[in-house]
Parts: sequence; structure tokens; C-alpha cells
Amino acid sequence: MNSVKQHIENLRKELRDHNFKYYVLDSATISDYDFDLKLKELQNLEAKHPEYFDANSPTQRVGGEVTKNFETIPHENRMYSLDNSYSKEDLQDWEVRIKKIVEGDINYTCELKYDGASISLTYENGKLVKALTRGDGFQGDNVTANVKTIKSVPLQLKGDFPPKFDIRGEIVLPFDGFNKMNEDRIEIGEEPYRNPRNTASGSLKLQDSSEVAKRPLECLLYNLTGTNLGVKTQFESLEKARQWGFKVPEAAKLVSSIDQVLEFIDYWNEERHKLPYETDGVVIKVNNLQQQEELGYTAKAPRWAIAYKFKAEQVSTKLESITYQVGRTGAITPVANLVPVELAGTTVKRASLHNADQIAKLDIREGDVVYVEKGGEIIPKILGVDMTKRPANSQSTNYITYCPECKTELIRQEGEAQHYCPNYNGCNPQVIGRIQHFISRKAMDIEGLGGETVALLVNEGLISNYSDLYELTKEQVIPLERMAEKSADNLIEGIKKSKTIPFERVLYALGIRYVGETVAKKLAKYFKSIDVLAKATIDELINVDEIGIRIAESVVAFFLSEDNSFMINRLKQFGVQLEMSAEELIGKTNILEGQSIVISGVFESISRNELKKLIEDNGGKVSSSISSKTSYIVAGENMGPSKKEKAINLSIDLISEYEFLQKLDKKHNFIDKK
Ligand code: AMP
Ligand code: ZN
Repeated sequence: MNSVKQHIENLRKELRDHNFKYYVLDSATISDYDFDLKLKELQNLEAKHPEYFDANSPTQRVGGEVTKNFETIPHENRMYSLDNSYSKEDLQDWEVRIKKIVEGDINYTCELKYDGASISLTYENGKLVKALTRGDGFQGDNVTANVKTIKSVPLQLKGDFPPKFDIRGEIVLPFDGFNKMNEDRIEIGEEPYRNPRNTASGSLKLQDSSEVAKRPLECLLYNLTGTNLGVKTQFESLEKARQWGFKVPEAAKLVSSIDQVLEFIDYWNEERHKLPYETDGVVIKVNNLQQQEELGYTAKAPRWAIAYKFKAEQVSTKLESITYQVGRTGAITPVANLVPVELAGTTVKRASLHNADQIAKLDIREGDVVYVEKGGEIIPKILGVDMTKRPANSQSTNYITYCPECKTELIRQEGEAQHYCPNYNGCNPQVIGRIQHFISRKAMDIEGLGGETVALLVNEGLISNYSDLYELTKEQVIPLERMAEKSADNLIEGIKKSKTIPFERVLYALGIRYVGETVAKKLAKYFKSIDVLAKATIDELINVDEIGIRIAESVVAFFLSEDNSFMINRLKQFGVQLEMSAEELIGKTNILEGQSIVISGVFESISRNELKKLIEDNGGKVSSSISSKTSYIVAGENMGPSKKEKAINLSIDLISEYEFLQKLDKKHNFIDKK
């Protein structure tokens, strides 16, 4: 093997090892920084040497492949459902049933039932070749590109794995990551996701795999399927899978009686609340695979396994009062204040009531005794009212019609569940919330200024919108509570420094409803300056990739407001970046806007990555598979025959790298370099 190839393979192996330690074993032996350096090195080598491309290289984890329509593929082995049980008696009945069919002692493997999206992974010669959703059990959707971005899914196995097998498991979204995603959503004024399970299965169907790569999903495995696997029991197969590099939770336990099964259930019924992800029961499996085979399947489920569902924990408590919160975007959220009660390992004092419809539907009133449940949602939810305990003088709830903070009449738009306070500039939580968003880390990242100080500045009348920040003086802030000379200096300095924050982040910082980080980037890239964006019509906006009518309307409304125009003019005068800098603009055009381009083969004058970047910098989209939507293919040497055939069948043009560079008028740059 030549030395470059060897070096590439060594790096791949090393990075794979680190991924395994970090994502499967939860114990890293390298810093993030060093990991990134090595990954970069590998990326560069692979870009220079496309002949050593490997679809399962650790560099492929970042995603990029876009799937428009997920292909439906039959499962080689059907994915069954599970029968449920809810009590000791149900489990004893099950044991009686199976003992009629099999002879001898029966041992059981007890496992937790992870609550996520089921997945079937196919491995051939140690490489992940396919990932299918359960679908209807007979056939599922091909979500391979998305699953590859999940770091705990090994792309290459280790040890003595069988040449071909399927392994089943569950894709879950741990609570931490779920909460973090929701914080980000709330920050841009979007409704938070309801529970981790739906968010996990929704993630598998995202079209852009690089979006999936950003979600902190995990894959927990529990079942090997195939022939000649070299294992005799379920428990052993879990251990093997662990050795091959899969994430198999340690909770699994081998027991020899239903009484011991019940002990396992009792233990985990409490302990599960400490797990980082959601579980909704226990799965009990006959351990011996020979016995499993004798037992076989009913029309729907294996006879050799049964699920035991935990009772969703529920308590009743008194609803003392309903209060209303006003968010940064003016959205009103009703909150139930409860007499504190223990539930699923935590003390619950408050529960979200979502919106007016929810309160009306359940007829929830102050003074009621309500049932509270903590399921997948982080914030407990109210299931209903114990009508037998309703006080005689109970009054039905009248949803507020005026803002609790500024007394403005609330509005509710057609088709929206939420009420809003329209007092954009005079409602304190909105004014403060917007400035807090403006200074936040992902926006203007103003050092030396925190959320509480913003509230102080507003309440003291020193600022009333974010553009006022740039006129603050040290003398004004020193008298504030907990301000010293030094911290005042830092604050003023931090504000000054924010004038160098690039346009795309300023655009995000403005707090336009529905304009999150990604949308802000898109808009900044496309329109290039705030003046051009401010003049854009709805039609022009929805012409931009991935910008829909809701965002377009919100952007137009933002710039129609005189107050906003005034503020933006002030920001401009203070020197905040309201257009892309000359540096950012170099080499960027919209020439390829709306085009979907496939790159294939090996190139002479330019690397694959340089080509990709050129396409993106000029407004085009790089797609990894040929479809009727492909505009054309930039083809180099050694383009794969199947790709060529597909291109011919769909009558898609092939152009050479030189023709492509000519289109961009870039030929000299690159050819000279050669
Ligand atoms: P149900 O969806 O209620 O029919 O339950 C069956 C599903 O439970 C399976 O399709 C799996 O996706 C899921 N499941 C979660 N954990 C396990 C486990 N440890 N063993 C088997 N199935 C599991
Ligand atoms: Zn208000």
C-alpha cells in the first residue's frame, strides 16, 4: 500500500476509535480540538485523493447528502411489533403459554424498552450498507444518509463480526439535547417540540442530512437478525454486538424466573428517571435462541418476547392559580401553578397549559384538583380535572384579553393557537427579551453585558431598544447596581467590539420572527445588504431556497415598521455591519441560484472540495445523487458507469470541469495553479 493511502487509513481508524470511545463508551481520550485537527487533516487528504473515497469514512458523518423522497425497501427479515403486558398476572400467563410449547428451563433476558424510532441496520463485511425505518414491518424507508450522521452508529465494525447481518435498535434523542433544541426554537419564536420520541423519528425524515448531523441523536441496539451469527442466546448476542462497536445499554440482565423479571421491573420503574433518555417499559425475551425458534411468531409479534409497559406516573394536586407569561415575541403562555407534588423523581410546581383552547377543552379552573403526568415532555402536563373534587363556588376560566404586563388588548391570528401582545415597543418583556436576544452569544455576542443588566438598563430608562446600546456611556452605567469601574469599561468595550460582527449574525440578532440562525445566513448570502433585503417583495423572498411564505411575510412586516427602519438607520450610523464585507463578497455570486449540481469522477485542475465550494459560493446546491431535478453533472475522469447510465436515461447534461469553470469565468485561477 502506498504511504498516502496508508496514512488515510490510519487516520480513519484512529478517528473511528475516538468516536467509539466518545459516543459509545462515553469516555474520551482526546480533546475536541485535537480530534478536529485530525478530522481536518483527513478531509484535506481525501479531497486531494478522491481515488481513495470511502462512503464510510469518519468524514462522512457531517452529512450533506439531500434526500428528496425516501425510497421504500423491503426488510429482509420482518420487523415485528411486541405484545404488551401490564401486570404480574399478564407475565405469569405468558410464561404458562410458552411453557406449553417449549421443553426445559427457560431463562429470560430483561431489557429496557427505549422510546424512540425503531431502525434496522444492515452490515456487510463490517460496513454499514443500509438503514431502514420500521415502516409497516414488511418494508421501511431508506434513511441511510441520515443515520450515518449519528455518531454512535459504527460505520465500520471491529472484531469477529459475521459477514452479513441486520441489527435492530432504537434511535433516541436524549433529554439534554432535546431541551437544548427547544431552547433554540423558543429563542427564534418557534413552538417547542412536544416530546423526544416524535422529534427523533421526525429527524430521520429530514431531507438534509447535515441538519440531522446537528441533532444529538443516539442509537441503542437490542437485536441481531440473520443466519450463522455464531451466538446461542440473546444475552450473548448483546455482548457480541457491544464488542463489535455498537452501543448496547448495560441495563440488560439475564434472569431465570418471572419473579426475578418482576424485580428488574420494580428496580427500573424508579431508576429509569435517572437515565439520560426516555424509556417506557421493559422487554422480556426468552434467552435461548433455539427456544425462540420453537416458539415462533403470531401474525403480529414474536411469542418469545413480551413488553411490560411502565405506568406513566400520574399524581393529582391542586391547581392554585393560572398565570400568563409574555415571551420575547409577545406570545402568551398560560402556566398552571400547582401545590408542589412529587412526580417521577422531581418536585412539580408548575405545568404548561399551552393555550386558550387547551384550557377550554379540559375546562380547567383555578381551585380544581388536576391530574398531572410526566411523560416524554420535560414540562409536566395536565391531563384533566377530578370533577368529584370541584369546589361548589368554582368559576370557569376566562382567558385573559389584555396583556398582563402592559395591558394592551391581545390578538390571535387566524389559525394560530397562541394569543399575542401586539405592543411591540411598549411591552417590557418583549422589549427586554429582544435586547437580550440581540446581545446573546450566537447573535452580537456582547461580552460584559448579561441578561439581567439589560433588564436594569431598560427599567432605569437608559435604553429602550438595541440601537440605544451604542450610545451608552460609562458615566451612565456606573451608578447601576453591582457595576464597578472595571465592569463598566468592559461593557462599553464589548458593545464597541460588536460592531465587527458579520452581517449574517446581525441579521439574526435583529430578532425578526422566524428568522433563526440558518435563515439569517441564507438571507444574508442572497441579498447581501440590509437595504436590498428591506426592499425585497414577498415573491422575491420565497424565491430564495428554503424560504417559505411565513418567513417572507414576517420579513416584509418587519421592514414596513417605521420604528424598525429608524432603528436600523441608527445601527448603520453607529457602524454596525449591515452588509456583507468586501472580503465575504469575494468570489460570491448568484449565477447558479436554483441549480442542483452533481459532481462525479476525478478532476484535473481542481479538487472535489474546491468544486463544491465554488458551486455553493455561486448560489448553487451540490447534490450527491442524480435525479430528474439535477441541472447538470460536472463529470471528471472515471465517472461510475451506473451514474453515467442514469444521466443518459434522464437526459441530463454532462459537462467537463473546464466548461464549468468557464461558466463562472474562473478558468484562469484554477488552470494556472496546475
Ligand atoms: P410497540 O411499538 O409498542 O409495538 O413496541 C415494539 C417496539 O419496541 C419495537 O418495534 C422496538 O422499536 C421497540 N423497542 C424498544 N426497546 C426494545 C428492546 N429492548 N427490545 C425490543 N424492542 C424494543
Ligand atoms: Zn404586553
